[in-house]
Amino acid sequence: MSPFSAVICGAGIAGVEAALRLRRLAGADVEVTLVDPGESLVYRPLAVREPFALSGVRRYPLRAIADAIGAQWRQDGVDGVDPAAGKVHLAGGTELGYDALLLALGGHEASPHEHAHVFNDRNAGETFHGIVQDIEDGYITSLVLIEPDGPTWPLPLYELALMTAERAYSMNASCEITFLTARQRPLDAFGGGAAEAVERLLADAGIVLHAGATPRVEGARHVVVDQDTELRPQRVVTLPRITGPQLAGISGVEPYGLLAIDDVCRVRDLDGRVFAAGDLTDFAVKHGGISAQQADTAAAGIAHLAGIGEAPGPFKPVVRGMLLTGRKPLFISAHLAEGRGWHSEVHDEPPWQSDEKVVAEELGPFLREQDQAAPRP
Ligand SMILES: Cc1cc2nc3c(=O)[nH]c(=O)nc-3n(C[C@H](O)[C@H](O)[C@H](O)COP(=O)(O)OP(=O)(O)OC[C@H]3O[C@@H](n4cnc5c(N)ncnc54)[C@H](O)[C@@H]3O)c2cc1C
Repeated sequence: MSPFSAVICGAGIAGVEAALRLRRLAGADVEVTLVDPGESLVYRPLAVREPFALSGVRRYPLRAIADAIGAQWRQDGVDGVDPAAGKVHLAGGTELGYDALLLALGGHEASPHEHAHVFNDRNAGETFHGIVQDIEDGYITSLVLIEPDGPTWPLPLYELALMTAERAYSMNASCEITFLTARQRPLDAFGGGAAEAVERLLADAGIVLHAGATPRVEGARHVVVDQDTELRPQRVVTLPRITGPQLAGISGVEPYGLLAIDDVCRVRDLDGRVFAAGDLTDFAVKHGGISAQQADTAAAGIAHLAGIGEAPGPFKPVVRGMLLTGRKPLFISAHLAEGRGWHSEVHDEPPWQSDEKVVAEELGPFLREQDQAAPRP
């Protein structure tokens, strides 16, 4: 009899976390295939450091990861799923059969404001490095940062705001920074305690905060905050809005096309063999640590389908974040209910491994080992 076959599409934070967890739970009883068109696992959160000439995004070769896990790696993209036949269609023209499937393709990124610079990890240097230099040299003296409404990553824009203010201060440069967010309070995913701490940090850094704002960006230098407030900054920067994948055979839910999952991370309304984890799901908070927790739940569900272990209990998300500030980072965590944080904790000292931006039970120790084996400069 051929072994139970688990196909994991997307070898980012969620995909690799799931492969590691599955290997630990099921050993050689489950054959794992990772499908990803890229060469590397991209550890995206450190991108916010790049504009400040600090070490940024890390990449870990997928071939080495697959070998270490004992998984197959297909360097290809999935472009469709046929749940009835138990197959995924690959962009290269072949098909791959599965007994269980995990979709972990990350999110698509849409620009929320036509005239604003959209910051992401692929253009961190391009978009923001020039701005930081121009602030240092006194050419830019006003900057507006807009956290879009809808799904986006919660931390990076606050980090850019605080790090920019700190850099301007340390270079004796003056820059008026305004932060606009549609949320009623900053970092609402992390709960009230975190919101308070971040409000204080922003105020101490001289950053003007408009919460509950739904601004219009009328031009590259013109932001209408509300009927009484218009801003004329020299630069406007925002984050992408995260939307769902374009996959034949699987549809996302309106308005963002994200995949609806149940409380054990199975894609809703399918046959129970298709799971999803990470930014492409309709879970409200887009965060690497949450992606990893979903991946662990999905991996336990897949192992259970293979006849190994108990059925997993419902996914109980806890969001943990390290907020870079340009000075000491802030460590914040909260339990999540309906996408909002409660029981926030805020720490000055790391309550978890301090170099981890993404807190992931399997991936954290695994990447630490990789870093120790091949230290970075
Ligand atoms: C600047 C920035 C800062 C962040 N800061 C933090 C932070 O401090 N802490 C934190 O926890 N999170 C942070 N995040 C969020 C975190 O990086 C994401 O939530 C996390 O990477 C999502 O994991 P994922 O596996 O869903 O997607 P990804 O990690 O994006 O991985 C998706 C993978 O799918 C692959 N893929 C795409 N399309 C296909 C296809 N058709 N077929 C097969 N494979 C495909 C991609 O190549 C990629 O390898 C940050 C993100 C950014 C951009």
